[in-house]
Amino acid sequence: MSALSVDEVTAYRVLIVDDEPRQRESLSELVSLSGYSVASASSAAEAIDRLGECRYDLVLLDLNMPGMSGFHVIDHVVEHKIPCKVVVVSGEANFESARTALNKGAYDFLKKPYVPDELFATMKNAAARNALERANQQVREKLSESEYLHRFIVDHSPDIVFMLDQDGCFTFLNDTVYQALGMSKRDLIGQHYSVLVAEQSKKQAKHVFTERRSGERKSRNVELQLKCKDESEFRFFDTTSMSVTLNQHDDSDDAFHGTYGVARDITERKRAQEVINYQAYHDLLTSLPNRALMEDRLNIAITQAKRNNQNLAVMFLDLDRFKWVNDTMGHTKGDRLLQAVGQRIENCLRKGDTLARFGGDEFALVLPQVRGHHDASTIAEKILNELKEPFVIDDHDLYVSASIGIAVFPEAGQTREALIQSADLAMYSVKDKGKNGFEFFKESMNETSNARLNTERQLRRALVNDELRVCYQPQVNAITEKIVGFEALIRWEHPEHGLVFPNDFIPIAEETGLILEVGTFVLETTCRDICAWREAGMDNVRVSVNFSAAQIEQPDFIEQIVELLKRHDLPGRCLEVEITENVIMNDMANVIQKLRRLTALGIKIAVDDFGTGYSSLSYLQQFPINTLKIDKAFVSSINVSEGGTSIVNAIVAMAKGLSLNLVAEGVETDPQLEYLRELGCAEIQGWLFGKAESAETTRELLQRIAAGANIRSTMVA
Ligand code: C2E
Ligand code: MG
Ligand code: MG
Repeated sequence: MSALSVDEVTAYRVLIVDDEPRQRESLSELVSLSGYSVASASSAAEAIDRLGECRYDLVLLDLNMPGMSGFHVIDHVVEHKIPCKVVVVSGEANFESARTALNKGAYDFLKKPYVPDELFATMKNAAARNALERANQQVREKLSESEYLHRFIVDHSPDIVFMLDQDGCFTFLNDTVYQALGMSKRDLIGQHYSVLVAEQSKKQAKHVFTERRSGERKSRNVELQLKCKDESEFRFFDTTSMSVTLNQHDDSDDAFHGTYGVARDITERKRAQEVINYQAYHDLLTSLPNRALMEDRLNIAITQAKRNNQNLAVMFLDLDRFKWVNDTMGHTKGDRLLQAVGQRIENCLRKGDTLARFGGDEFALVLPQVRGHHDASTIAEKILNELKEPFVIDDHDLYVSASIGIAVFPEAGQTREALIQSADLAMYSVKDKGKNGFEFFKESMNETSNARLNTERQLRRALVNDELRVCYQPQVNAITEKIVGFEALIRWEHPEHGLVFPNDFIPIAEETGLILEVGTFVLETTCRDICAWREAGMDNVRVSVNFSAAQIEQPDFIEQIVELLKRHDLPGRCLEVEITENVIMNDMANVIQKLRRLTALGIKIAVDDFGTGYSSLSYLQQFPINTLKIDKAFVSSINVSEGGTSIVNAIVAMAKGLSLNLVAEGVETDPQLEYLRELGCAEIQGWLFGKAESAETTRELLQRIAAGANIRSTMVA
């Protein structure tokens, strides 16, 4: 019994089953002498009960017992898979019963009378067998535990894990394949890997899955697109595969066993990347290429044009009235208009052309296939034509036009930057000339642009060097010809060019933002001059001051005026604010609120150049406007003998209907005055009654009039 330790021996439990008490006792004694724990039963039935009560390792069983035979015990042990060895100890001489017992599942057979050593040897064998079986069982349990663990790990992997045989057919797939692609592994086992691979990835897949590789090339990483159950869909996988050889140390081709692989779903990452790439190169509102992509394409087009000695055209397109649409109709409609415009322009293009949005209402086109000016003009005309049809947005018919500047390679520039700048200059030239059209870049535009830059520089200097002046042009009552006010008009005493008029620098001041400083200068000077006149006894003077949109958009626009009036101790009625219709249209809600505050201060509001802007006449009723100024273009058309007065007539009638004050500008002749007076126009401004003069001259004029002179006589004087 040396196979078992002392503890194991005492723990080894033997059940002795015999109906003969003597036999039972002597056997019990013998067995306990060896240190085993012993129990006994006097019948098969009792033995069966005992076996049910606790564990026994060995049963020494007599076969011949009254009632139930020993065979029943063997049957019971086998049937209930009781882990004990049964050794039959029987006096039966015939071998038949021994064979039956062994067949039924007894471990050994001892014939009575037995020699104790024989008994011990048999018991020892049985115990050793027991131990072996138990150890086996433990190993089996451990193995199944670890297999379960591996299976769990593999099946719960977020990646698809697979094995392919030498022919590329699946021999193993984990459960993830179902979650990732909607395909059951059962359907896929035995199938060729290509059933899963999307057409566009077949080539790479072949490369990594069917090649036998060894050494450093054994493991391969490749990005593949795999098909989903719904064949139209596919997902991206980062796939690592490894050639598997039967013998790990044998990398020879003969040992190639197949491919082991792991495929990680990177679809989300790929899609996010796609979105990021898309956003980096596209305008999100119109889905058109953005500036970066346009510049890229232009670079390519320039390289090709150089190589093939060809032309190409860059166009800059700016919508003419977009700000107005945006401000009056709201940004949502503005956005939709931009989208619709983009689509219409695209309809005019050929494959290979690029239409990009540069932001705002600016579009740019790269046309690599133009053969020269003629082709480019055809496309520009087509675009302008296409835009003529109204855009229907929420039941509104919106009309837009565009200004297009064209730069043709190589004459308008040989580099990307030069071409873009040339197209931009040409576009501005169209704008300057009244918009809605196209123009090719000309060298002279560079000069204009340089001249602009020059003016800007000089204007900045003018502000510092005090070269700006404010002059005052009288406004008179049409009937009494008495002065009712003045308009403040800016002049620039240029050290080299002499007197420069506002039309030559105000637009540049507006473009560059210098208008804010210029405007402040005019307003301050005007207030100071009015103040001086009042101190000289002329306290009933009203002066109109021109304001640009940017000034009114300033958040402290009102505060600035209030502060100035206060500083010079002036009542609001001394001032009239002249704005153009475009200013009103820019940001209606904001402007209306600011104008109301001005009115509350006693300041009058006049609409300048009335009839030349984009009047939506309805604003006249909503805004607190006092005066309409008829533009001198309409006044100059008054030629009584030839007609041409219908617009003036209409404006006068409308002003009367709305109870607005009317000032006619640019009145140069008596017949014009006569005509306006007859119509009922209240006030007149024009060379007929004087040009804009300096503050000093104006003071003298006021003094002479106060002394009883009339304005015409002062002019003669
Ligand atoms: P505007 O406000 O419509 O001013 C009237 C213009 O008509 C003035 O031109 C004036 O000199 C001119 N004018 C007046 N009567 C006659 C006439 O009988 N015949 C002719 N042919 N012209 C006459 P000016 O001073 O050259 O100003 C041009 C424009 O520049 C102004 O038009 C106004 O829009 C702008 N401007 C002038 N001063 C300022 C200013 O301080 N700020 C701003 N933002 N704009 C100003
Ligand atoms: Mg004016
Ligand atoms: Mg005017």
